[in-house]
Amino acid sequence: MSIECDAVQGINLSQGICDLDLPEAVRLGAEQAMLDGINHYTRYDGLERLRKAIAKKMLDFNGMTVDPEKNVIVSSGATGAFYSACLALLDPGDEVIIFEPYYGYHVSTIESVEAVPVYVSLAPPEWTFTIDELEKAVTPKTKAIVINTPGNPSGKVFSQAELELLADFCVKHDLFIFTDEIYEYFIYEGYKHISPGSLEKIAKKTITISGYSKTYSITGWRIGYVVCDEEWAQMIGYMSDLIYVCAPAPLQIGVAAGIESMPESYYTELCNTFKRKRDLLCTTLTEVGLTPYIPQGAYYVLADSSSLKGNTSKERAMQLLEKTGVGSVPGSAFFHGNNGDKLLRFCFAAEDSVLQEACARLIKLKHS
Ligand code: PLP
Repeated sequence: MSIECDAVQGINLSQGICDLDLPEAVRLGAEQAMLDGINHYTRYDGLERLRKAIAKKMLDFNGMTVDPEKNVIVSSGATGAFYSACLALLDPGDEVIIFEPYYGYHVSTIESVEAVPVYVSLAPPEWTFTIDELEKAVTPKTKAIVINTPGNPSGKVFSQAELELLADFCVKHDLFIFTDEIYEYFIYEGYKHISPGSLEKIAKKTITISGYSKTYSITGWRIGYVVCDEEWAQMIGYMSDLIYVCAPAPLQIGVAAGIESMPESYYTELCNTFKRKRDLLCTTLTEVGLTPYIPQGAYYVLADSSSLKGNTSKERAMQLLEKTGVGSVPGSAFFHGNNGDKLLRFCFAAEDSVLQEACARLIKLKHS
């Protein structure tokens, strides 16, 4: 869709690229690190300064006690962290439960290690699940479950009650929990980010994955991490070392500087800014008959595109692009069956002026 969108000089709300500026402290931290000569391989699990900063943040923000020497592995983004964890902990043929709508990389990564994704649907508008459906998905081969909170593309934020249910389910079946929390700081009113790893009964088997691509708008820096029990950390770190050697050294320092120095208000402002963007886009989508499922977190919105012509979500996305010059992602990208055929995903992590122009263009639908 990005290629199609560029071809018509459209406004691309399809990709999850945040085009906002990075915080100055993060940029200066990386620049200074380069000047200071921190330009070489780092320890396989990351520089001490960054592991310590992450450990402190895990305690303060996620409510998890973490030893920076034993439980933190810095990797090449959350993507590298998840891939390393899958390589370390999954065997070919293992089944992994994954909620849909899902983030495509989760499925592709699971498949790339020859494990098998098993889908459980989240029901809109609140993207809820039942334990019955989870139980139906379990077989003797089930090894793990993937949670993404806040979720891409649904914006779902798992509640304490839901996580307690999931925790009991995972204990019962002795499952690993891979939890991708890359949008942990993008949470809207009435919701709270809870890390599954903070629930004691599943702490040992929870592999927490996150990073700073989104929080600091540095998707190209590739700084992410795994936090987990030391029993798994060594093998995950070994895999990360094998594939990536280390995350970029000066950029690790930039992120550490950010974690150490960004005030609480930065994160609050992030939520406020993105809530405004969410509300602008969702109001417009509602107005033009593309009813949105209002996201609880992250920076995507799924919208019902039944009002557009087309038999598939791809045809509808193309129709929208033709009529308005706004690029979106066909819902089919987030489902293994045809449940996504009526949906389109829009990303609202764009500069205000870009988002406003996209909304002005979408309004054309009203008059067409
Ligand atoms: N996880 C989810 C759910 C995402 O949506 C994305 C990016 O879109 C990533 C991970 C990628 O994170 P990173 O840039 O840290 O690899």
